[in-house]
Amino acid sequence: MTEPSIPALSAALRAREFSARELTEEYLARIERLDDQINAYITVTAEQALAAAEQADQQLAAGAAGPLTGIPIAHKDIFCTHGVKTSCGSRMLDSFIAPYDATVVQRLQAAGMPMLGKTNMDEFAMGSSNETSFYGPVRNPWSHERVPGGSSGGSAAAVAAGLCVAATGTDTGGSIRQPAAFCGVTGIKPTYGRCSRWGMIAFASSLDQAGVFARSAADAALVLQAMAGFDEHDSTSAHAPVPDYAAQLEERIDGLKIGLPKEYFGEGLDPDVAASVEAAIKEYEALGASVREISLPNVPLSVPVYYVVAPAECSSNLARFDGVRYGHRCDAPEDLEDLYKRSRAEGFGPEVKRRIMIGTYVLSAGYYDAYYLKAQQLRHLISDDFRRAFEQVDVIMGPTTPSTAFALGAKSNDPVAMYLNDIYTIATNLAGLPGLSIPVAPVDGMPVGLQLIGDVFQEGRLLNIAHRLQQATDWHRLTPGLAANR
Ligand code: GLN
Repeated sequence: MTEPSIPALSAALRAREFSARELTEEYLARIERLDDQINAYITVTAEQALAAAEQADQQLAAGAAGPLTGIPIAHKDIFCTHGVKTSCGSRMLDSFIAPYDATVVQRLQAAGMPMLGKTNMDEFAMGSSNETSFYGPVRNPWSHERVPGGSSGGSAAAVAAGLCVAATGTDTGGSIRQPAAFCGVTGIKPTYGRCSRWGMIAFASSLDQAGVFARSAADAALVLQAMAGFDEHDSTSAHAPVPDYAAQLEERIDGLKIGLPKEYFGEGLDPDVAASVEAAIKEYEALGASVREISLPNVPLSVPVYYVVAPAECSSNLARFDGVRYGHRCDAPEDLEDLYKRSRAEGFGPEVKRRIMIGTYVLSAGYYDAYYLKAQQLRHLISDDFRRAFEQVDVIMGPTTPSTAFALGAKSNDPVAMYLNDIYTIATNLAGLPGLSIPVAPVDGMPVGLQLIGDVFQEGRLLNIAHRLQQATDWHRLTPGLAANR
């Protein structure tokens, strides 16, 4: 019963081959048996999951089930979940029980998906390796000595290890696509504003976007369908109607024009990763697509631009964690200033502190023009590069990451090396565009991701293009051989 597709599970539930309760129990047992090796979950919510599964069984019995009814999901611990610890991977929120559900969580619950638990992540979603979590690193299910990627590493690893059917994540600079690539699963970051940010703990509000991890584009389409759409609680959520993603999956892709940015295939890209990505692009040519080289000349500036904009927004967003209203509070403060200082000093880890410091610096009166304003101007140029590219091509393809998953600890003392891991993913967030990563041929037994970037609100098309490759190839079916797996 492991690694089946959502439609197959759903059909089995309707045919009463097993109940939603039994399915949920099976996943809870797998978590119990295997998660010690992975550390994908911060909190397992067995009781709630079983109660939700029983409700799903009632809906199934009443003939009122939808395509996701009874399918167990995990949520990144950045999404507020009513009555359940919501830590954001930080000591700051270690004792925080959310008083309400994030819109995304609420919608997936309404779709009948039992929540198995909350997944591990880099602290406040700042990281590319899941090593900044207060709850310890997540291990890559393909090789326990390697990172799963971050910041949504727990969600990616949980899907890869069969510890849930699908999982939510968030992507501010690559945190869905990069871990999806490292863990060999499908991950989609929709257009900015496609999914509500309400109840999603803010990191960099102009970049943050919720998305999905699943075993295939077809599964991801079903989950995204239930999550997406306008929410009156989030003024930046888009009013645009949500198309029927499942219906779009089968559209033809012959005649598809693929752009390969030369900036994504240059220095710094591991040659084996390049070969694997190129082999996948050949498959697309065999499916009737045409390929041309394009240029995104300002995109190489996206890492420095991001590391001004994201810390600036984070320094403002994280000011709310002051030890007064919620979150960690130091013992016996001498006065208000001591309370602020020690609560924040104790509650935040080193990477979060680094970002807050950079952010306050680039926003300071003396440096605002030189850094923040300049970064905003460059952000426009980066968006323009993509706009021009989409006048010529339908989709942009390239590697998701420059290498396969690196060893735990390999980059933890070198923030710049860590930041450069997102070199191919960050520009998409700066431009607000949708991006998707799908597994292609592994290198030395480790997964490789092919990245697809689309124009605004083209997530349905991206899922369709990804699905067509997954119909023609089996890379997405590969699974890690976990000890004592089955
Ligand atoms: N790795 C990037 C960072 O550390 C992106 C994180 C994310 O997308 N949440 O900021």
